[in-house]
Amino acid sequence: MDLIETIHEIPVQNPSVDDFCAADLKWVKFGTPEHHDDVALIPYARVDEFIFGECSNVESPTRFHIERGRKRSKGSLLEFKSDEYLEYRLYWCSFGPENYGEGGIILPSRRYRLNTRNRAARPQSMRGCTCHFVVKRLYARPSLALIVYNDRRHVNKSGLICHGPLDRDAIGPRAKKIPYVGNEIQQQTMSMIYLGIPEENVLEKHIEGIQRYCGSDVVVNSLASQYVHKLGMIIKRSTHELDLDDEASIRIWADRNKKSIFYYEESTEPFILGVQTEWQLQQMLRFGHHSIIAVDSTFGIKRLKYPLCTLLVFDSRQHALPVAWVITRSVSKADMSKWMKALLGRVCAVDPTFKVNGFIIDDAAAEIDPIKETFSCPILFSLWRVRRSWLRHIVKNCRNIEVQREIFKRLGEIVYSIWSGANPFTVLEKFTHDFVDQTYFMQYFTATWVPKIEMWLTVMRTLPLASQEASGAIEAYHVKLKVKLFDDSHLGALQRVDWLVHKLTTELHSSYWLDRYADESDSFQTVKEEYINSTSWHRASQIPDTDVTLDKLFAKIVSQSDRTRVHLVWNPGSEFAFCDCEWSLHGNLCKHVVKVNMMCENRCEYQSSTSFQSYQEILTSMFKKPPDDSLELDLAVAWLNQIHDQIEKLVELNKSTDIGMVVNKLPLKWGDRKNRTLLCRQAAVRPCVSSSSKSNVARKKSRKRRRLSSIR
Ligand SMILES: [Zn+2]
Ligand SMILES: [Zn+2]
Repeated sequence: MDLIETIHEIPVQNPSVDDFCAADLKWVKFGTPEHHDDVALIPYARVDEFIFGECSNVESPTRFHIERGRKRSKGSLLEFKSDEYLEYRLYWCSFGPENYGEGGIILPSRRYRLNTRNRAARPQSMRGCTCHFVVKRLYARPSLALIVYNDRRHVNKSGLICHGPLDRDAIGPRAKKIPYVGNEIQQQTMSMIYLGIPEENVLEKHIEGIQRYCGSDVVVNSLASQYVHKLGMIIKRSTHELDLDDEASIRIWADRNKKSIFYYEESTEPFILGVQTEWQLQQMLRFGHHSIIAVDSTFGIKRLKYPLCTLLVFDSRQHALPVAWVITRSVSKADMSKWMKALLGRVCAVDPTFKVNGFIIDDAAAEIDPIKETFSCPILFSLWRVRRSWLRHIVKNCRNIEVQREIFKRLGEIVYSIWSGANPFTVLEKFTHDFVDQTYFMQYFTATWVPKIEMWLTVMRTLPLASQEASGAIEAYHVKLKVKLFDDSHLGALQRVDWLVHKLTTELHSSYWLDRYADESDSFQTVKEEYINSTSWHRASQIPDTDVTLDKLFAKIVSQSDRTRVHLVWNPGSEFAFCDCEWSLHGNLCKHVVKVNMMCENRCEYQSSTSFQSYQEILTSMFKKPPDDSLELDLAVAWLNQIHDQIEKLVELNKSTDIGMVVNKLPLKWGDRKNRTLLCRQAAVRPCVSSSSKSNVARKKSRKRRRLSSIR
């Protein structure tokens, strides 16, 4: 075959069949005599059809997953080769790339066939398959995709066919005829079993799933039924206790689940285990990129052996979705840095452009340097944990509801004093004086909060504050986690790490997986509805305005479940509003408070939310210190304008029910010059101006000058 050296000589192929595969294309050698690849050029619009065709290969039915991806923006390169990519995606056969077996170590690929009578079933996937290809959307011609496909055979490193009907090691009776159960169906079936859905319903969905890959007949159905039943038995009998000794047990688990671990330190104190499943990684890439990550940081500090820290992203419905769990007692800078870097490294290995725009913390004592150093993004603070602790203790320790309301309101005043100009310590002093007779509550408050109140207030003053919607979403995750973990009957388990890991990666993971799946595929209607309704923000938006009556001191809301009842929300327009519904009396941010505050938001007789006040403070402080009257000022004005513009767009997008309308109204994009898009992107990343902003401006300017001089 002749070697082709320029891409323009490669013909574009557009097969007339719907789904096509490698065999339908003519492959040419492209590159230099030293290094060349098998390639084919197809319309970019048909890439999905090609992938589908490759998946339905009769000899090796499989799925391909994205192992690595990169992107660059149009106009970002001044010079480029004809095969330079705009988008780069490496697709790998889902039976690879690693070879995991029982015992969990990465097995060397089999060099010879196993000659053993013990024909135990092999795992459904991860058999070390090396088949993979690259799809490059061309930078110079984005309507075309260059497919680079050097390893087209489904073989392992030793060159043996490792799955499919031709796999001579397919083990067990009728193994060759067993329909392929893809990861997605396997996960779906597992999730349903974990959630306690009856076996016949699980089976029905399972058969629907596998029929997408093979026809339906009696054999397929009976095999499916066996599969579901067996999986159910395995799950029922599976135990977290892989060894009597917790440490040994967790070591075995870690060994078997290497793919779900991003950081593990077992031998030296302190113990640190960072868990992230493949699916969570995908969700972090999807919802965390150019968005916000929140952390629920000190879960179970009193009851669990090691506290649990969860990283959350906000999904397409702005609900909190757990994307990584870290189990450790250590909160030291060095240890946090280690696991954060490992996590970011893992994410960036798949997408090197991954960037977080903000990080919400909930603990004023948390070290923020590791976050800044690792994610280099602004840090926000959420009041949800403070609010929850105060409210729970008020309800627990004070009898009279009028006293409860008033204490909560006055605690809120301490926080609001940050912006009102009053001295927080005078407010605090007056508070302790006025409620001295509430002995139990005051004992708790003086012991737990008074010594640290300055630290908390400083953090609230210096960091931008997260919104009520974010607080509600984080709280919803926290509550769900609590229900799943603490309802376990054998409470001795709380002191075992293996139990915690097992709970998280099976039940909790499954429930979030199914929530997302139900929503995206519009199936499992009850699961979907429950998932949508899982945050107080969403529940609040379902309450009609007409059911709310506002007054200065309190608001009345007609109960949605029992229209003869009315809930009273004391201190409306504040995060420290007190509702008398049951959900609120458990310490939660209830839908009534959220709804009332939504309505108070734009009325001048109520104070603004803490997050808005903090936002306003940041903006005004920017105006207070104008840089000298120089080019720097012009640059600052330009930035500010862009930030303002972007915030307006974001707000509009969030409020809109039809994104298409908003997008259509957007002005045409500016020219594709790199410096312009860069400026625009930087502005979006740094909405809050910190002390380093000035040096940033200077750096940006000198970079710009350098670029100008290089053009000259
Ligand atoms: Zn394969
Ligand atoms: Zn309520």
